[in-house]
Amino acid sequence: MKTNIDYQSLLEEIHAEVRPLIGQGKVADYIPPLAGRSPQHFGMSLRTIDGNSYSVGEAHERFSIQSIAKVFNLTRAMQLEGDDVWKRVGREPSGAAFNSLGQLENEHGIPRNPMINAGALVVMDIILNHTDTGEDLILDIVRDLAMEPSIDYDLVVAEAEHETGHRNRASAWLLKTYDNLDNPVERVLQAYFRLCSLSMSCAELATAFHYLAAAGTSASGAVVASERQVKRINSVMLTCGVYDEAGDYAYRVGLPAKSGVGGGIVAVMPGEYIVTVWSPGLSEKGNSLVGTKALELLTTKTQSSIF
Ligand code: GLU
Repeated sequence: MKTNIDYQSLLEEIHAEVRPLIGQGKVADYIPPLAGRSPQHFGMSLRTIDGNSYSVGEAHERFSIQSIAKVFNLTRAMQLEGDDVWKRVGREPSGAAFNSLGQLENEHGIPRNPMINAGALVVMDIILNHTDTGEDLILDIVRDLAMEPSIDYDLVVAEAEHETGHRNRASAWLLKTYDNLDNPVERVLQAYFRLCSLSMSCAELATAFHYLAAAGTSASGAVVASERQVKRINSVMLTCGVYDEAGDYAYRVGLPAKSGVGGGIVAVMPGEYIVTVWSPGLSEKGNSLVGTKALELLTTKTQSSIF
């Protein structure tokens, strides 16, 4: 572990460098409550595996984590079913939009990976097979991981997704026709929309994902996943975590990462730290524009990446 880095100064330097860019990009507008967010926000947190936290900007402001929650979803399913998860979902980059229906049809109802919407629906279905009530299976775990009991779903966002999520509904029905959803379509969709609506800050996310940098042990010392599972989750994040931009991301940032259309990104430096950024202006591919730049600056300035 690199111990001689002054992360606080580094984050401040990065914040100063990206400040002229803040506001660029386009806020996601297909989920109405997200459309109302200003692109002017910026927050960044870094938490080392020995428990030191560093933050700049609006690192403590909560935002809609959206697809970042797919990592919690996958982790939970792997806890419940281990490698059997891979019988129902693949682990190849999609090279297509996160909500592509054509690809799902071409692959006979086996989603390409758990980080696209169809894949997350299948993973949620796996989790729901283990419960009668469903929703709180993940919320409790996220609260424990972040050591923050006030974390919650944003039901306004969940409801808006329910109203506007026609493509997710179409994916779910397509999965059903291929016999790759066990639970009723509406039950899976409800749980999925709630999952996407989780509201968390950069600082909370950096604590919650501690286990991905610390070989499966959470910030509070609980064993959440095996080392082998962590390797798998990180590898899926690296190859599939940032929509159809994984190649460019590996090239520029060099860390496993997962982004969401709310403008958040979580990235992992195994054995060292979790870093999180939030800035709602998105690139054409759907990743936070300024957030990506900030991560690129971090790995450039520290001269470290997983490569
Ligand atoms: N809830 C969003 C959807 O299904 C997830 C978007 C995302 O962050 O990728 O459309």
